[in-house]
Amino acid sequence: MFPVDDFDFHTHSRASDGVLPPAAVVTWAVERGIRHLALTDHDTLDGVAEAQEAAIAAGIGFVAGVEISAEWQDRGKQEEENAKAVHIVGLGVDTATTTVLQEGLRVLRGGRIERARRMDEAFSALGIPGTFAGAMRYAAIPELISRAHFARYLVELGLFKEPGRVFEHYLTPGKPGYVRHRWVDLAEAVAWIRAAGGVAVVAHPGRYKLTSGAMQRFLEDFRDLGGEAIEVVSGSHTPEHVSRFAHVARQFGFYASRGSDFHDPAAFHASKLMPLPEDLVSIRERLA
Ligand code: AMP
Ligand code: MN
Ligand code: MN
Ligand code: MN
Repeated sequence: MFPVDDFDFHTHSRASDGVLPPAAVVTWAVERGIRHLALTDHDTLDGVAEAQEAAIAAGIGFVAGVEISAEWQDRGKQEEENAKAVHIVGLGVDTATTTVLQEGLRVLRGGRIERARRMDEAFSALGIPGTFAGAMRYAAIPELISRAHFARYLVELGLFKEPGRVFEHYLTPGKPGYVRHRWVDLAEAVAWIRAAGGVAVVAHPGRYKLTSGAMQRFLEDFRDLGGEAIEVVSGSHTPEHVSRFAHVARQFGFYASRGSDFHDPAAFHASKLMPLPEDLVSIRERLA
């Protein structure tokens, strides 16, 4: 019904940890043949107005979005250390009025600076001082300070060739620069999105380190909370992931979404983004 390959519903701008201003994300998308775009910055709606204006000027469709940093606890595992970080995209959210969503995001963002200070302490102890200030130079909005900004600063120092290596060595669970952080519970993330009239989407499920049983329970919880969609095609998915999560979309009756998770033109490989399998029900039907 809808074309399967001309939309991108997961992108980042400088409002969070992307490198382009919101209007330039629109230009980048148009140059790649995208006709319907969602901006989904982490934990903020700050870039949406600028991107929307640019999308209108460029004559493409635009969806206001956000990617919420959340966590999910498996059943029977109530200890805090067992919570898994998951990202929930909200699409078609209301941005005109101050909503439960905007208030929730404000509180959620508040924790990032404190985490960044603790990361700075961890790096100082490793003999790499000054990372808070160094990372902050890459953050257009201080309270959106991200691990991605730390990674860029360590690349700038010449310690690594590219940010992915910094994540591998320092920034993932169990590595010495990683600081455990409390995000918002899955239930609240989904509730905020729904309160703002949006559709909750599981972001890049292929990236979660969950056993198949835990993945199933996560998806059931997400559905039971009112989650409606899943990213079947993502910039970080292999063809095997696409098959696996297409199956999930059919099994759970989820709308299927497609998003590059674009952050940086220098790091992006356009050939990776596949079309959605044609038998799935596109998220575009839900948002039409
Ligand atoms: P944060 O929200 O501060 O925990 O940072 C998470 C962000 O770091 C993600 O949204 C990605 O942009 C980036 N990221 C996570 N893992 C990697 C990785 N392995 N390589 C490069 N960037 C990553
Ligand atoms: Mn990011
Ligand atoms: Mn994400
Ligand atoms: Mn993302």
